[in-house]
Amino acid sequence: MTSHTDEQWEAIANAWRKAANQSDCVRLNAPEFVRWLKREGYIKDYVCVPDGDLPGASGKFEGGIAFYRRSVWEAAEEGDPHSVWTLVHEGCHGMRNHQGVRYRAHEVQRRVLSARSGEEEFEANRLTACVLAPFDKANFKPGMSADEIAARFGLSREAAKLRLAEFERLYRRQRGTPRLLPPGIIDFLAEQKRKGFKVATTLAEVY
Ligand SMILES: [Zn+2]
Repeated sequence: MTSHTDEQWEAIANAWRKAANQSDCVRLNAPEFVRWLKREGYIKDYVCVPDGDLPGASGKFEGGIAFYRRSVWEAAEEGDPHSVWTLVHEGCHGMRNHQGVRYRAHEVQRRVLSARSGEEEFEANRLTACVLAPFDKANFKPGMSADEIAARFGLSREAAKLRLAEFERLYRRQRGTPRLLPPGIIDFLAEQKRKGFKVATTLAEVY
């Protein structure tokens, strides 16, 4: 289990989007993303099963294979927020090399053993959020609402509320921490000014 900062999660998700050739669009094409994961071998396969075969779950990741309820896959193709989330979530288990369900024991054991670790679920959800709603495509401004985020990226309202808190943190840090220019560039700008050249970029601006 590796822990990442908000910024690192964004970078990881952006790298995946880019690799899947979906970095230009605001909304991810989730079925296409899952198909791409299979083509590239990040998941062994994806399988749509009758809804009754996955009681109480919209999907699962087992033995390197993403399983989806057929109705969930179909709803994701129509852009249903929860279904889109499920498609990408199971794929993220493969992207993070998670083992997923390992046991098929009797009922009591199964409940204990097949429960995925909270860490794997946390990772898969964190990455899903960043893949579906990248900060750098949010046009985030203070005051942006969860509903606006939901509408922009096709997220559920619950997911958008969590994402809003993450966007606010990322925005604050991006603004609050001055990006220091290399000393050479600051010297160069100051020198140009001394010589009487009009320096279009003031030092305050470049910060
Ligand atoms: Zn999961």
